[in-house]
Amino acid sequence: MRAIYWFRNDLRLHDHPGLVAASAANELLLVYLWPKQRPWCNTQGLGEQRERFISESLLELAKDLQPLGQNLLVLQGSPELVIPDLVRDYGVDALHTSQCPGSYEARALRVLRERLDIPVLEHPGSALFKEADIAGLCPELPESFSPFRRRIEKNLTADEPSRDLPQLPAPPALQFHRIPPPRIKPPLGLPLRGGSDAGQRRLKQFLESGAIRRYKQTRNCLDPLEGSSTLSPWLSLGSISAREIASAVREHEAAHGPNESTYWLYFELLWRDYFFWRALRDGVALFRHGGREGAVSRCTFEPRNFARWCAGDTNHPLVNAFMHQLVSTGWMSNRGRQIAASCLIHDFGIDWRYGAAFFEKHLIDYDVGSNYGNWQYIAGVGADPRGGRAFNIDKQAAQYDPDGVFTQKWDGHRPPQPMYVTDAADWPISPKDT
Ligand SMILES: Cc1cc2nc3c(=O)[nH]c(=O)nc-3n(C[C@H](O)[C@H](O)[C@H](O)COP(=O)(O)OP(=O)(O)OC[C@H]3O[C@@H](n4cnc5c(N)ncnc54)[C@H](O)[C@@H]3O)c2cc1C
Repeated sequence: MRAIYWFRNDLRLHDHPGLVAASAANELLLVYLWPKQRPWCNTQGLGEQRERFISESLLELAKDLQPLGQNLLVLQGSPELVIPDLVRDYGVDALHTSQCPGSYEARALRVLRERLDIPVLEHPGSALFKEADIAGLCPELPESFSPFRRRIEKNLTADEPSRDLPQLPAPPALQFHRIPPPRIKPPLGLPLRGGSDAGQRRLKQFLESGAIRRYKQTRNCLDPLEGSSTLSPWLSLGSISAREIASAVREHEAAHGPNESTYWLYFELLWRDYFFWRALRDGVALFRHGGREGAVSRCTFEPRNFARWCAGDTNHPLVNAFMHQLVSTGWMSNRGRQIAASCLIHDFGIDWRYGAAFFEKHLIDYDVGSNYGNWQYIAGVGADPRGGRAFNIDKQAAQYDPDGVFTQKWDGHRPPQPMYVTDAADWPISPKDT
């Protein structure tokens, strides 16, 4: 019996139900396919920091596999085309992967199930909880976060992660290509490397330094590694699992006592889970301008304003600083993401999906559910019961960067320019107008 395990956002060996299930085979081929470069909303390809972080994570995974007598086959191309060739060439009897939201991801699995004459098995993915537990508690996923959180907190505790490495069967005899090394180094501003070891080190440091005990007060800090956990890059690629973080927080609480901040980290992990389940439920609606409800909102597309936002060349120094930070490091604080997104949507009147696509290109912690879910939230077409968030950027700057240190550090001050006015017709045209 020969199986393929297809890695997606689960680049680790421990706490990995899918890999354990696939390991029942006699021979196991481990495969990863690079994210496909699709043009979308004026954006194409991966930003250099995101590409670097993925590369490093793959190299680390391949290194961790060596002592277990395994290797990682990294290929490019559509799963719909590449995987059937592998199945045929190596006489594979089962394909395993982990649950992962996204409409291309769902389509790939649908097509593979149609084309392949073998079982295509999806295992629990990167969420804290199992699908059956969520479906049991919330047969209909609540439209906003709070009722979801209340139900989960009352009824569920995340499983303890399994720390054992699986016993992996050997790979079939084939030529494994060398995984290309990253083309650039981590930026000086954020020297984080991909891979499970680096993620574990960061978790340990965040807990042992006591930073977690102040997290609720410091989480809006604009710099990474200072106030918030900065665990998102490893979480998003699955180098570390949310269950592991929840369990480490529980251990910390058992040893040092719980406080508001230790709870708040778990609270944020619940947000991540909520967006994960929403994204799975919503499918292609996650990428529609009006979201699941198809809400019609007027917006425009003025390409020069979009280009200025991407380049960090707007009349808002703080937004410019955030955008420079994003492009050079691949990371931006939650507060920064909220303000930059609000600026694009509510000040420039641009379709939120253009901003989401730009974030998708650059964020080293890009996660389909959290990214598109949060953009929808701010645009008022998603999970926000208040119908969207428009931030007063000057007020936010006064509150979160009162001395302008962050804005200065990221070169936010640019000569003011006139705002371009938009095209003649509001877009998209409301059905009522046609
Ligand atoms: C417009 C916008 C786009 C976003 N895009 C992404 C994305 O692509 N990937 C991503 O992981 N997060 C995204 N977020 C959520 C959040 O900004 C990041 O998770 C957080 O800034 C990561 O830093 P941290 O690990 O230090 O977070 P912490 O504050 O330490 O939180 C711990 C963990 O909780 C989760 N979390 C925290 N806040 C949120 C949230 N609002 N939504 C979902 N999960 C959350 C993350 O997994 C995070 O690592 C986005 C937010 C906005 C407003």
